[in-house]
Amino acid sequence: MNGMDTDIRELKGIGPAKAKAFQKLGISRVSDLIRHFPRDYEDRRALKTVAELADGETACTELLITAQPRLSHIRKGLDLVKFTAADETGSVNVTCFNQAWVKNAFSVGETVLFYGRFSRKGNRVEVLNPVYETSGKAGRELLRIMPVYPLTAGINQAAMRRAVEQGLEACGDSFPEPVPKDIRERYALASAAYSYENVHFPKDEQALAVARRRLVFEECYMLACAQQRMRERRTASGCRHPEKADPDGFASKLPFTLTRAQKKVIEETFGDMTEGRHPMNRLVQGDVGSGKTAVAAACCWLCAGSGMQAAVMAPTELLAEQHFRTFSSLLEPFGIRTELLVGSMTAKQKRTVYENLETGETNVVVGTHALLSENVRFRDLQLCVVDEQHRFGVLQRADLARKGEAPHLLVMSATPIPRTLALMIYGDLDISVIDELPPGRQTVDTYAVKEDMRPRIEAFARKHVQEGRQVYWVCPMVEASEETPDLRSAEETAERLQTKVFPDLRIGLLHGKMKAADKDEVMKRFSAGEVDILVATTVVEVGVDVPNAALMVVENADRFGLSQLHQLRGRVGRGRDKAYCVLFDSGSGDVSAERLSVMCRTNNGFVIAETDLKLRGPGDFLGSRQHGLPEMKIASLAEDVDVLVRARDAARDTLKEDSGLTKPEHSELKRRIEALYADYDGGMN
Ligand code: ADP
Ligand code: MG
Repeated sequence: MNGMDTDIRELKGIGPAKAKAFQKLGISRVSDLIRHFPRDYEDRRALKTVAELADGETACTELLITAQPRLSHIRKGLDLVKFTAADETGSVNVTCFNQAWVKNAFSVGETVLFYGRFSRKGNRVEVLNPVYETSGKAGRELLRIMPVYPLTAGINQAAMRRAVEQGLEACGDSFPEPVPKDIRERYALASAAYSYENVHFPKDEQALAVARRRLVFEECYMLACAQQRMRERRTASGCRHPEKADPDGFASKLPFTLTRAQKKVIEETFGDMTEGRHPMNRLVQGDVGSGKTAVAAACCWLCAGSGMQAAVMAPTELLAEQHFRTFSSLLEPFGIRTELLVGSMTAKQKRTVYENLETGETNVVVGTHALLSENVRFRDLQLCVVDEQHRFGVLQRADLARKGEAPHLLVMSATPIPRTLALMIYGDLDISVIDELPPGRQTVDTYAVKEDMRPRIEAFARKHVQEGRQVYWVCPMVEASEETPDLRSAEETAERLQTKVFPDLRIGLLHGKMKAADKDEVMKRFSAGEVDILVATTVVEVGVDVPNAALMVVENADRFGLSQLHQLRGRVGRGRDKAYCVLFDSGSGDVSAERLSVMCRTNNGFVIAETDLKLRGPGDFLGSRQHGLPEMKIASLAEDVDVLVRARDAARDTLKEDSGLTKPEHSELKRRIEALYADYDGGMN
């Protein structure tokens, strides 16, 4: 048995209660423990004399105890231990709160190292609750760089450090090594043993940097290996090709002229589907309104031309219905039969669709996850289109694909994602970008305003409605909460607008806690123009088209990610009228103003996404779990881009040399990436 597998309950100081607390952090074995990385470090190396200590300085100082510690019991729950200690340059008053044991921790004449934040008024130097270490033990806690860990109730820093220290000891220098030797050498990576040791207890800054680089590389490398294997697994089986066809055949019957970018991407997808040994495996990215739907319809057209079937999956019923209308109207001129399949249809209606899919009567089906039902069987499914991908996750993508035999896959992403991040998240897909909007598309004039503008904004909204247009009014919360009194809720806002501000207008409410049927009902009324102002949470961000909505107001806009604001803003500006977006900035300070000013300056989703990623990091940028991306424990997708790119290259090399990872030097790698995607059906094999 390897030290890594040791149950942490075997470590000193970890009983059943502590073990439970560790469990909350996802730690049950030594391997989890040593991958619980510090969130920060405390540099305790500076050793100062008392005279050198500046007011507010955090440092170590070595002092002689000059007065016996005295305990005073101030009141229930407040004990103070006070004493003085000095070196030849000055004296320090030490106070410890509620640590009665300090009274007996040392005696007059003893030399002790103290670490803390010192305050100075003239010659009077004080420190509260310092960390101390008697000189005999020096170097364990003080005079070094100490890790600062994420914690949970029941575990303090000291306990965590002690546990990690023991964990490292248990591993000895026999760390299983997932990164093969040739890769380690080629990329000048430190050994696993050195890296784990120094990421937790770094010898110095350089050792920390070297350790971290290796661990980041390892994480990215394993992810890249896992994705590339997944991709191979999906594509290994070969595929069927629809007959080649000229895209112009499709384009000629469109109500508009395709943009250059749409043509380019259609050609890429047609190439994927009609040539090569592998099924298409492609992500199409494009800003809101760039016309991804037409690209998907072209692919369906190509397949249907050869009698093959296509399935289009959207995240909500409303969106599925909208897509159904679009696909039907684009494909009908070619005699291609499109049907809808959503959960709310009657059993009888569904049965008809099932039958038509099984007989092949229906060429294209548009639906929600209802498509994944086991009743759905195709005669010859050769193309899966998944829209608004981040609402589904990788698993459902695979589930849909299993309805056919290695069908072609087209994923359409609703959110523009910076290239590096896209590589990481969609590492198993080829990526196409529609980097151009149809001509004549207007930009949405965007203004960031403070609270004092509210009356003017309300008047502006009223004017819009009076002129026959509609308004979205977006709030960050569903209902009011005591914990976040400064955040506006949709429920309260709807109530306030209806009773106080616009009693004569029709206000609607839409949020994620409502029943699906109620949501659809409100959205339908809004689409039909029966609601003037729709107060909503971010549920409206996913693409339903209401061209008559020309104003969007966002409350607490500073609390949203920029990409999310951009996505929201994409709901307006779809009609002929000039469109506006008003962002209420409830933040204080320049950062929130700076962020929102990006929204006012540009309508380019990719520029906004890059800025968002830089300012907030990928964790906020996208809920990473939704993307099926395993949790990154140490790599930062925003900061470690260089390493990430190299790790991908390395993964490609490794798999080129040993695609099944059957060589002994790859056994640990194989084990680890199988664990990484353990929740995938069938594992990695
Ligand atoms: P998205 O990329 O956000 O999914 P859609 O495919 O929904 O965008 O297209 C947005 C709108 O633009 C639709 O109303 C569509 O009919 C229209 N559209 C798409 N391509 C073009 C084009 N080349 N020229 C003009 N309008 C287009
Ligand atoms: Mg769309």
